[in-house]
Amino acid sequence: MPLRALARVNLAAIERNVARLERELHGTSALCAVVKADGYGHGAVPSARAAIAGGASWLAVATAAEAAQLRAGGIETSILVMGALSREELRVALAARADVVAWSEPFVGELAVAARDGAGILKGGEDRVRVHVKLDTGMGRLGTRELDEALGVATRVLEASPALELTGAMTHFATADENDAFVREQLERFGPFAAEMRTLQPGIIVHAANSAATLCVAASHLDMVRCGIAIYGCDPLHEDPSLRGLEPALELTSYLAAVKRAAPGDSAGYGRRFVAERETWLGTLPIGYGDGLRRDLTNNCDVLVGGVRYPLVGTVSMDNITIDLGPAPDVRTGELATIIGRSNAERQTVEELADRLETINYEVLCGISARVPRVYHHDGEPL
Ligand SMILES: *Cc1c(COP(=O)(O)O)cnc(C)c1O
Repeated sequence: MPLRALARVNLAAIERNVARLERELHGTSALCAVVKADGYGHGAVPSARAAIAGGASWLAVATAAEAAQLRAGGIETSILVMGALSREELRVALAARADVVAWSEPFVGELAVAARDGAGILKGGEDRVRVHVKLDTGMGRLGTRELDEALGVATRVLEASPALELTGAMTHFATADENDAFVREQLERFGPFAAEMRTLQPGIIVHAANSAATLCVAASHLDMVRCGIAIYGCDPLHEDPSLRGLEPALELTSYLAAVKRAAPGDSAGYGRRFVAERETWLGTLPIGYGDGLRRDLTNNCDVLVGGVRYPLVGTVSMDNITIDLGPAPDVRTGELATIIGRSNAERQTVEELADRLETINYEVLCGISARVPRVYHHDGEPL
């Protein structure tokens, strides 16, 4: 019997997506798998393991707690925490033996204090805090825009050696999914910083590319690429992922919990936002916005049953949706219903849902709520 709402994740697809991205890289560029936000909704620890099996040699997350979660899951690979860290969060990140990002001298001061107080924080024989310095080349978010300030931060890190270790230089692209020209502009701003950083500390890891840049701008690969969305088989340029040889790893399903007749004038759901105009059959699926199916999908989405697309009709409620099965449906109560994924020859991608919601695939995936169980398999074989 199917579950009311279920996310099935094919870890073999994540492995193949990582291997496919690796083939894009020149010989010495490493792949860092970004598993923030619970692995873009796929589950951080299983996704990280699959990415490592596919060839990833680094992991990146946004928060300290996410790094701690990976360590608690038994993962030993190098982790970069990319986000800003409060003093408390910094301690959590360091206890998780994560590399951290700095862009201001006061923060380097805090790092030095944390390293000095290291007993009880740093574990596993680690006595150094590893630091990547971030230059803001155009994203306008984290990092300093000033080359001199960034180099000053790096110098402070070197002065605090051996407690601190300068391990990386990074930036982040603002438009890799839409505008090649600005990516190149950002790369040009990054170049002199990267060169100076390599002089300050030979052997550091210089990194910039996200999934879109990895796929579209080979010059951005440098020493490492940070790929998130593409490892899950979703398209960073919001197109059909199969066009770039990516394989979606996640399927979201429910089932037909009730099938009933509707006469002309009968309505479905809150606010009667669907009223039958003809004799038809309605199917009810016990999945709703409480599971992450956004309410904007009201009268604005399809559901696949037995390889056939049926329109979602009426309001998406917290726990249920309804679909219009038409006047003579060939379906049974209890039948599997697919919201994201394949059903026989038919398929609905995350990108399609994102289009309907006027958002991006990232947000749809991250929105699948904790109420939805994640079940893992390897090309259909249970783990
Ligand atoms: C999320 C994130 C990435 C990964 O981006 P994708 O588009 O998912 O590949 C890379 N770098 C930074 C700094 C990020 O925040």
